[in-house]
Amino acid sequence: MTIIIKSEKEIAAMRRAGKIVAMILKIMVGKIRPGMETKELDIIAAKELEKCGARSSFKGYRGFPANLCVSVNEEIVHGIPGKRVLREGDIVSLDFGAIFDGFQGDVALTVGVGRISKKAKELIDTTRGALEAGIKAARDGARLGDISHAIQNYAESRGYSAVREYTGHGIGRDMHEEPQIPNFGPPNSGPVLKKGMILALEPMVNIGDWRTRVGDDQWTVLTADGNLSAHFEHTIAITDSQPEVLTEEVYA
Ligand code: MG
Repeated sequence: MTIIIKSEKEIAAMRRAGKIVAMILKIMVGKIRPGMETKELDIIAAKELEKCGARSSFKGYRGFPANLCVSVNEEIVHGIPGKRVLREGDIVSLDFGAIFDGFQGDVALTVGVGRISKKAKELIDTTRGALEAGIKAARDGARLGDISHAIQNYAESRGYSAVREYTGHGIGRDMHEEPQIPNFGPPNSGPVLKKGMILALEPMVNIGDWRTRVGDDQWTVLTADGNLSAHFEHTIAITDSQPEVLTEEVYA
């Protein structure tokens, strides 16, 4: 396994890509309302990407037809935006990647549509917390399994499950670089983390079981048991102190 260590110059470029994806994601989140079709989000993404001189990492990736993934309720990831209408009480996960000046940024979050149930809100908060726990574990000298374990432990100790069949990943000039980053596993295992590694951490957390299935469109990944799922992702840089979140803008 070769994990690419980025130079300061490359990290600066990734900071710009990260800022763009986070900013565009924030714009899309601001437009979410009951009654909208999910494809409206794809139209916004296309328009904002063009303004920034960036392009989607997802469109055309293995034939994926849209600029971002939109996954609703029991859909976990890889949903294709289309004619589906968002309803009050739905939860919707947006996963968005873009390439700018040769480098990738990747970010995701789950938000409620209008008023949502307490159960749905707690799932969203737990998934965001699992990502934060993973980020905290991503220190120079720690090991990859420490991140995986932190995410799993955060989700499972609260009675949720972390999806096992899809992972986070290294990121740079390519959207998916080494290493794969499972959302479960033993601590103190796997490669040692080093300053200059750039990782996309992305816990997917389910209310029910961690097992998944793929939908009829051959893209959308759903919970096998039909229960709700949420997804959060940040692109982060390992530093010699705490990790730098390159896609932080989304919370600004
Ligand atoms: Mg990703």
